[in-house]
Amino acid sequence: MRTFAFLLFAAASGLALADSNPVELHQVLDLPDDAKVAALTLDACGGAYDADLIAFLVDRGIPATIFATRKWLRKNPAALSELVGHPDLFDIENHGANHVPAFIGRDRLVYGIPGELDVAHLKREISRGASAVKNATGAQPRWYRGATGEYDAESVKVIEGMGYKVAGFSVNADSGARLSRKRIVGRLGKVRSGDIIIAHVNRPESDTAEGLAIGLKTLQDHGFRFVKLNDFQVRPLRPLLVP
Ligand SMILES: [Zn+2]
Repeated sequence: MRTFAFLLFAAASGLALADSNPVELHQVLDLPDDAKVAALTLDACGGAYDADLIAFLVDRGIPATIFATRKWLRKNPAALSELVGHPDLFDIENHGANHVPAFIGRDRLVYGIPGELDVAHLKREISRGASAVKNATGAQPRWYRGATGEYDAESVKVIEGMGYKVAGFSVNADSGARLSRKRIVGRLGKVRSGDIIIAHVNRPESDTAEGLAIGLKTLQDHGFRFVKLNDFQVRPLRPLLVP
């Protein structure tokens, strides 16, 4: 019975987990193949503000869904003012309070970052992140993206149980703001209709702004337009099976 209930919830989330190891959630916008529409999502995990990237998006009229942590919002008030000053372009959603991954287990590491101690700590990370977004924007967030973008069965159930949609992606444009300009442009060159792109807006010293500027402009030149996650339904790209 417990397994059956778990499979039901996993199917609803687009996650098919054979066990509870953390996995990336891969999603796309639910659109026809020829729509030439993609969604840009930018994580603000901690650290600083990539003003060049936001200036480019404003200049080109490219909207983005920003996943911000409480600690980033507190540290970057000028960035927040810039983002909320363009409500047509930017939605700010919940990336947690302190950038702790949304899977259970301090002994589990993804990119060297350990998971939450237990469900109570996960709920606190989510609710404190949500309060920070609400205070910053005046709007209740609707999406949650955990640090590292990986989830386990229990954490997805917790996030959805708190009323949030779990934000996945389908194109990892900058791999944690660690890729070269050339590699970012190469990854964006593979974007197809419906793709959800993930990159970062918290590492101004990285190649991300420059790579996105070239890659996104090229996509626009090829007829792509960009939307926010709240503009469309999303669906799982493919079931994720953990051996
Ligand atoms: Zn992050």
